[in-house]
Amino acid sequence: MESIIKEAVLEQFCSIADLMYQKGWDERNGGNISLLLRGDDLLNVGESERTREYELGYRVPELSGKFFLVTGSGKYFKNIKTNPKENVGVIQILEDGEHYRIVWGLANGAKPTSELPTHLMNHAARLKSDPDHRVVMHCHPANLLAISFVHPLEERELSRTLWKMCAECVIVFPEGIGVLPFMLCGTKEIGAATAQKITDCRLVLWPHHGIFGTGKDLDEAFGLIETAEKAAEIYMKIAPLGIRQSISDDGLRELAEAFHVQPKKEYFD
Ligand SMILES: [Zn+2]
Repeated sequence: MESIIKEAVLEQFCSIADLMYQKGWDERNGGNISLLLRGDDLLNVGESERTREYELGYRVPELSGKFFLVTGSGKYFKNIKTNPKENVGVIQILEDGEHYRIVWGLANGAKPTSELPTHLMNHAARLKSDPDHRVVMHCHPANLLAISFVHPLEERELSRTLWKMCAECVIVFPEGIGVLPFMLCGTKEIGAATAQKITDCRLVLWPHHGIFGTGKDLDEAFGLIETAEKAAEIYMKIAPLGIRQSISDDGLRELAEAFHVQPKKEYFD
């Protein structure tokens, strides 16, 4: 099976997956990534190439014809870097928007991540608000999970808490964080619910499970999750001690102005 994806693109994807594993965000087969491929990321995709086709079970006509590099279902993040061909693969959404084909990788009968509905619905949703969008990333960082047990899950309140944990937060995710109720994962229902949030918000927390982050490239999605996880870590360290002082709303406004971002107005007191 000849590769149809440029080596540098595959390498960067696998390196980020490995880094996520090293950070402890992707135990066992936890987590998944999908990258929308551009024309120049691909080498020749021959018509004669043997491919496997599957039904999606939902419709994403906005993504017809598009290629994605995705992690495999049940695959361990720790193995991705050493064996990409078995653990990740390239899929193409077919013209009807209801089927996909595997055009490279996912060897030995492997299939794309079980969270493919959330990934594809999130890509479709994000592309509507940002034509440069390309990445959906899901993982299980410990502090973002931990905070979902001890902090109110109301979006405004949680976004404000995270913003106030370190000065960079309001700059990195001025739109705040979306939060779903606890739902069964791996379904098109959780995919649709996440996509609804992610249209105007690049981070969505699945309480007691993990986080979805999106971005224009792998670094941006990774950095977004990394920043939210750092904020959650600080909260989990200081909350038991009692918080004596924090960044004020005026402090947040000053940061936003200085870095030319527009945080959600209704999140300020
Ligand atoms: Zn998960």
